[in-house]
Amino acid sequence: MKNTDLVKRDLSVVWHPCTQMKDHEWLPMIPIRRAAGVWLEDFEGNRYLDAISSWWVNLFGHANAHINAALSTQSGMLEHVMLAGFTHEAVVELSEKLVAITPSGLDRCFYADNGSAAVEVALKMSFHYWRNSGEHGKTKFITLGNSYHGETLGALAVGNVQLYKDTYGPLLMETFSVPSPDCFNREPGESCAAYSERMFEHMERALAQHAEEVCAVIVEPLVQCAGGMRMYDPVYLQRLRAACDRYRVHLIADEVAVGFGRTGSMFACEQADISPDFLCLSKGLTGGYLPLSVVLTSEAVYQAFYDDYGSLKAFLHSHSYTGNALACRAALATLELFERHDTLAANRRLAGAMAAATAGFAEHEHIAEVRQTGMILAIEMVKDKSQRLSYPWQERRGLRVYEHGLANGVLLRPLGNVVYFMPPYVIEPEQISLLAEVAWQGIHKAVAD
Ligand code: PMP
Repeated sequence: MKNTDLVKRDLSVVWHPCTQMKDHEWLPMIPIRRAAGVWLEDFEGNRYLDAISSWWVNLFGHANAHINAALSTQSGMLEHVMLAGFTHEAVVELSEKLVAITPSGLDRCFYADNGSAAVEVALKMSFHYWRNSGEHGKTKFITLGNSYHGETLGALAVGNVQLYKDTYGPLLMETFSVPSPDCFNREPGESCAAYSERMFEHMERALAQHAEEVCAVIVEPLVQCAGGMRMYDPVYLQRLRAACDRYRVHLIADEVAVGFGRTGSMFACEQADISPDFLCLSKGLTGGYLPLSVVLTSEAVYQAFYDDYGSLKAFLHSHSYTGNALACRAALATLELFERHDTLAANRRLAGAMAAATAGFAEHEHIAEVRQTGMILAIEMVKDKSQRLSYPWQERRGLRVYEHGLANGVLLRPLGNVVYFMPPYVIEPEQISLLAEVAWQGIHKAVAD
């Protein structure tokens, strides 16, 4: 079979996410036949280095032998059983493990099957906690500018991507939005820590003004990924934790994208030495194999729901595939790989290689900044460097980098004008060099006229 055969069939029946389908009149879709390690391979034998871990989910490479074996054993035993009234070994083991490795005080695991659903769970659980505690006035959430928490309606409402707000606004609950501590906007000479600290004043003010009606503040710790890999200093999270305690407001850490070693520590919150009230995890949780998400919370939150049936205090949220056994087994196998390979130490070396491979990029007249937090490196293309003026979105400069990447065996999928690397942890230094070389050429092409 040729690439075009499958694409033709696809285009007559499939509707793809995050895609204007009309683009495929001129932009070829890539049908993948198989994958191994960092490589994706199409039907004609062309290979593409998966520099973005297939939307940030893959940690230990495609077709990982250890995860494959674990799944094969699990599927011979139990593929799935509903989690209401029933349980199974994989979900119990995984929960024990997650409680052990996440920041202290997170002792209960509630499962769903994607990142957006985890965010919905955390929002509802926070609201419902206050309601069960007799605080009926707490119904709102505080969010950061430029944040992204998924695309179901609750998750969209607490996100701040303008396009989504403009389009789906009439369907979304109202939230309080506070300017982001995004360090791209710091003054020349100002440190990221000083800027993050300064921007916290907005949060402090919002909490002082609205705490009575606020259930929780939701943030993406350290990196606002979908919002262009915008980064901020851990000091912001420290201030936020202290303020949430002071104002009796929950803190929801959405580590769907940054959890599991992405930022250099197992969880981004560790860098601020804080524990949130709710921790949302998904994506890398199963090593990129199967949809699964989890919300961890405290025993205190759990106890606010624990009562006689007639009190009607039980949490109301369920999905058919909650705690799917295969997905839990893939997650356990993924966590075993972290232990076996001392992944965090290896990632420090890889992060160093990513920095070295892009050293000097920031000198380019159309690159405003190269920023990095652990295994996330982002290159910000700008029209005018001195004024930090973006290219208009209509010019689709990032798409040119995407096309150049594919033509040269690298899958890069820029977010607007931001080219980024977020590779699987099994990438090798020479593959990082290839990635950087192709990105560099792609950026040159993208800014050429
Ligand atoms: N939260 C964050 C921080 C994310 O980056 C994403 C996905 N990019 C989500 C939530 C939503 O996850 P999902 O796509 O699995 O619904």
